[in-house]
Amino acid sequence: MSEDKGLLIVLSGPSGAGKDTVLKQLINKNENLKLSISATTRQPRSGEVHGKDYYFISENEFMDMVSKDNMLEYAKYCNNYYGTPVMQVNEMLASGKDVILEIEVEGGAQIRNKCPESVSIFVLPPSLEVLSSRLHGRGLDSSEVIEQRLVVAKNEIKSADKYDYVVINDSLDKCVEDILCIISAEKMKVKRMKKIIDEVLSNE
Ligand code: 5GP
Repeated sequence: MSEDKGLLIVLSGPSGAGKDTVLKQLINKNENLKLSISATTRQPRSGEVHGKDYYFISENEFMDMVSKDNMLEYAKYCNNYYGTPVMQVNEMLASGKDVILEIEVEGGAQIRNKCPESVSIFVLPPSLEVLSSRLHGRGLDSSEVIEQRLVVAKNEIKSADKYDYVVINDSLDKCVEDILCIISAEKMKVKRMKKIIDEVLSNE
């Protein structure tokens, strides 16, 4: 692993756990942190912008990218495909940026296998009740879709113990602070500091 390379961070958690708000704050507070923009076959929600929120592509285009090995990971979630275009992630990591992937648990498992040097963080809602009221409160999806998402959420939470860290999103500020601490600590691991140790010794 090159120490100048950025850190790859996986952030997962059920829909409604507040990942989007957490992410916005993380990016605002840490300028070395960049968000990977995923590709999806889901229809854009009102206000979502192609190339900013997602790359909204057809299933044919998605499968073409998969077959050409252009996805670092991908999964089907609630009848739509979601995947991480590999090129943008590699470019950002090579330039020393830390890259965060906001992905569901199947994709998280693929990244842990493929990129063992990555760090994975699971954002847990304080309870399923809170999760349900957040999903209804944001008014983005129909009741039917919300019920489907709650079933998926329970299954996702069962995968939380496969992650390196679990952070509870009860207080937004605390959750953001916790994740920033994890990133700092990961970056100070000895395997990432060897070059600096050598530099200090060579300046005797
Ligand atoms: P939403 O439709 O609410 O934007 O996202 C649904 C789920 O897809 C969320 O859990 C989100 O984390 C996940 N997701 C978004 N992008 C990706 C991706 O590139 N890969 C995978 N595996 N999951 C993704």
